[in-house]
Amino acid sequence: MDISIVVPLYNEEESLEKLYEWVERVMTENKFSYEIIFINDGSTDKSWKIIESLSKKTPAVRGIKFRNNYGKSPALYCGFKAAKGDVVITMDADLQDSPDEIPELYKMITSENYDLVSGWKKKRYDSKLTKNIPSKIYNATARKVTGLKLHDMNCGLKAYKNEVVKNIEVYGEMHRYIPYLAKNAGFSNIGEKVVVHRKREFGTTKFGLNRFVNGYLDLISLWFLSRFGKKPMHFFGMFGSLMFLFGFLAVIGVGANKLYALLSHVPAPLITDTPYFYLALLAMILGTQLFLTGFLGELVTRNSQERNNYLIEKEI
Ligand code: UDP
Ligand code: MG
Repeated sequence: MDISIVVPLYNEEESLEKLYEWVERVMTENKFSYEIIFINDGSTDKSWKIIESLSKKTPAVRGIKFRNNYGKSPALYCGFKAAKGDVVITMDADLQDSPDEIPELYKMITSENYDLVSGWKKKRYDSKLTKNIPSKIYNATARKVTGLKLHDMNCGLKAYKNEVVKNIEVYGEMHRYIPYLAKNAGFSNIGEKVVVHRKREFGTTKFGLNRFVNGYLDLISLWFLSRFGKKPMHFFGMFGSLMFLFGFLAVIGVGANKLYALLSHVPAPLITDTPYFYLALLAMILGTQLFLTGFLGELVTRNSQERNNYLIEKEI
């Protein structure tokens, strides 16, 4: 099978038929063998009914129905697990992504040998204030942290080699950082293609303003996991040692000062009178805490089933 199209959706009843027809038209025009997998993420409208009736009409339509609204990442995770095509395309269900982009994306994966191609909504049709400007800042930060030169990390329209989606685990709200997940899994050939973006025709956006806070926290988590996930002590231990060292030097300073005053018979200040005493106390306690966190981190990773999970590309 050439292409699997993975479509996560939550209450998108008005768009589904139109989306299917459009995809079907593009696929037949280009003679692709394909499947389209709708993942109904706990919709409360008629979305599932529509998916059922589409799948009765044609075997190319598959559906997965969640009992609850788990989120876009869990939906993608299940779609990726089910996908059988050589190239996997993800797209939103709200008709904001155009199926006309699929043939070109397919070509980039198969003939230009990209592992992953991310769409770039160069001209966006979302409301300016809450989407476009924050998204620019967000993407600039993501570029710095991840080292990936992508303009639009969180575009819903992306294409992957099948082995990429089988080797990454999208969870929580990590769908925003799939290229970073892929890079951390060793797929470094990551490209970008300018894609057409359209206005949302029906319904409303499913993501509120809290996505900025969550997005940044997730970015920090991913960065930490990719650098220190298997060796947490290297992170906590370093900061803990520095902290402790600073505190220890301060203590020596405070003590030496007192001793000097006593020995030279000048009135010695009380140790608690100097701010260094409190700084030393704080630093040494914090340092110890960081160290203990490091040990706990090591215990956790040691007990994790994942501790020796390595992605092996080939064996001969
Ligand atoms: N979506 C989903 N589960 C959710 C929220 C969103 O499957 O909990 C789907 C949604 O139906 C759409 C895609 O994810 O197909 C992108 O969502 P949306 O269009 O609301 O995001 P925006 O384009 O506003 O960033
Ligand atoms: Mg949308």
